[in-house]
Parts: sequence; structure tokens; C-alpha cells
Amino acid sequence: MMLDFMELIEKAESIAIGGHVRPDGDCISSCLAALGYLKKKYPQKKVDVYLERPSLVFSYLTGFDEIRTEASEDTYELFLAMDSSSIDRLGFSEGMFHRAKNTLCIDHHISNTLYADHTLVKPEISSTAELLYELFFSRAKEEGLSEEAFVAFLGQDMAAAFYTGIAHDTGVFKFSNTSRRTLSIAGHLISTGIDFPRIIDESYYQKTYIQAQLLGRCLMESIRVMEGRVIFSALTMDAMKFYEAKSEDLNGIIDQMRIIKGVEVAILLHETAPQKFKVSMRSNHDVDVRKTAVYFGGGGHIKAAGCTMKGSVHDVINNLTALLAEQMEEQAVSE
Ligand code: AMP
Ligand code: MN
Ligand code: MN
Repeated sequence: MMLDFMELIEKAESIAIGGHVRPDGDCISSCLAALGYLKKKYPQKKVDVYLERPSLVFSYLTGFDEIRTEASEDTYELFLAMDSSSIDRLGFSEGMFHRAKNTLCIDHHISNTLYADHTLVKPEISSTAELLYELFFSRAKEEGLSEEAFVAFLGQDMAAAFYTGIAHDTGVFKFSNTSRRTLSIAGHLISTGIDFPRIIDESYYQKTYIQAQLLGRCLMESIRVMEGRVIFSALTMDAMKFYEAKSEDLNGIIDQMRIIKGVEVAILLHETAPQKFKVSMRSNHDVDVRKTAVYFGGGGHIKAAGCTMKGSVHDVINNLTALLAEQMEEQAVSE
């Protein structure tokens, strides 16, 4: 089955690779791993990556400087949509997606809307990077390569990209989406000699002073509701302006809220336009935050989901907690 998807890629002379808006570590890494692999294995193909301005913390990845941040007029035979669960998540590259002769989506979101001509979606897999690794490895295996030989072909540049994507979407190998296979792949990747402690520190944990201040402020101002089982914090446009912060500066804050004792669901609101909030949600055990996010037009995974909502902080939190409470009460009854 995997090989059918590889054939689509192999058939295409020209390939545009795109990802989702506000690309995260998994998205950027998957695009660059695909770029590196396709250029090395099929040097005659034209392959380009289109992504919204990626964070500079990923500039160590090979191919980073080749990322195109604006749409082009070119028409490609294949558009490869990475880590994007719905068509509107593609942002500026949506027009190029429509113009391409053929489209393939590679993704691990259970909420994938099957918008592409062909979709390789596996929600049980930690990250798009892990799924892409398995896809390329399936071809290598077919050609008689061992996993060691496949990883040697990837080399450090591509290994660093796959590793970064997997590390980011598993919260550095600790979220429940981390499988035995995830760790086995990571083991193969680090055997290439990549500087993985540095990759983890500099792309995942390192914070600028502004980011540390925002984290402190969100924790200080966080409010617990529903007997401490839900915690939320909100950053207004004014606060963002005060710190001269960008939305990517908020990465990781919600995870600190989620690990507070007694918390089942953490919610972080970030005002992107007056009274318009980007909502991030994380859950610890049994609450399906994706269900709540989908209800408000968003998506994601069971334990990590998001959406956009309008109104005051008070309205947004009231609407979210009303739905979350339904789920939590159902559980309390069935327990
Ligand atoms: P975030 O809170 O932005 O880190 O997102 C958590 C997860 O929810 C990610 O897997 C996103 O792909 C997904 N997600 C976030 N916002 C949206 C949205 N507006 N629509 C669909 N999925 C989303
Ligand atoms: Mn992503
Ligand atoms: Mn992902």
C-alpha cells in the first residue's frame, strides 16, 4: 500500500511540497526531509518547498534557505501536502495545490478531511516525519536495503530533519503517541552521528528572554476552573505587542500548564485580531479535546487540538468549558 504512494511521487517530474500555516517543527522537518530525499534519490526531478515564514530555530536544517515563502506561478505535476489536515490549513499554497495535476497528502491527523486526490493518513503514528520515514523506507526495503543502509543513504542532513520532526511532535519522546517503533527509528537516526542533544535544546527547549517572560506571565495569570481540572490563560493583542511577541513565542507554554497537578485540560488563548482568539487545548487522560475543537471549526488530535473563536475571553472560555464539562460529566457517570 505504501508503495502505491511512492509510485505517485516517482511518476511526477515536478513536485511542490507544502505544509500548514504557522508551520511547526514536524511540518518544516517533513518538508525538508522530503526535499532532501527526493533531490538525492531522483536528481532529475524539479522539487520545491513552499512554507509560510519558518522559525529561524530550524535554520540548521539542510534546505532551510531554499524554502519559498510566497506562491509561484509554476504548475507542478504533484503537490505534496505535509502535516495538513484540511485544505484551508495550506494557506498561501492552496492555489498551487489546486493547479497541480495530482495531489498527495501525507498526514497523521485523525481529523484529516481527505481533500487531496490521494491521502496517506495514519493517526496512530507520532508525526508526519515518522510516517514519511516509513514511506521512504518501504521503497528502500523493496530495493533490498537494510534499515542501516537506508539511514546511511539519508546521511546526517536528512537524519537531523526526520529526528527534529519526530522529537517535536512527541514532546521529545514523551507524549503517548511515542511508540516502540518511534524510538527504534530515533535510534537509527542518532546512529548517523547527529548532534541530537543540541537539536533538542536549540530547537525545542531553548527560549528567548521574551519567550521566558511570556511563559511566566501566562502561568502567573492562569485561572483554574471546574475544581482545578481545567486551567486557562489568555494573551491579548496588547500583551503581545508589549513583549513584541510573535505567535511562535508561545510554543511550549500550554505544556507547562498541562503538567500542573490536578489539571485534566489546559487551554491557551491568543488574541490574533480584536476579540478573535487562536485556541490551543491539551488534555492529559480521557478528555477528547479534538471533539471540542472540531465543534468550533478546528481540529487536531485527541490530546492536542486547536480552533479559532470570536468573543471576549470570558465568552470563549464559557463556550469551551460548557462542552468540556459535558465530556467530563459523562466520564464521571461511567466511572
Ligand atoms: P496547537 O495548539 O496550535 O499546537 O495545535 C494542536 C493541534 O491541533 C495541531 O495538531 C494542529 O494541527 C491542530 N490545530 C490547531 N489549530 C487548528 C485549526 N484551527 N484547525 C484545525 N486543526 C488545528
Ligand atoms: Mn503540525
Ligand atoms: Mn504533525
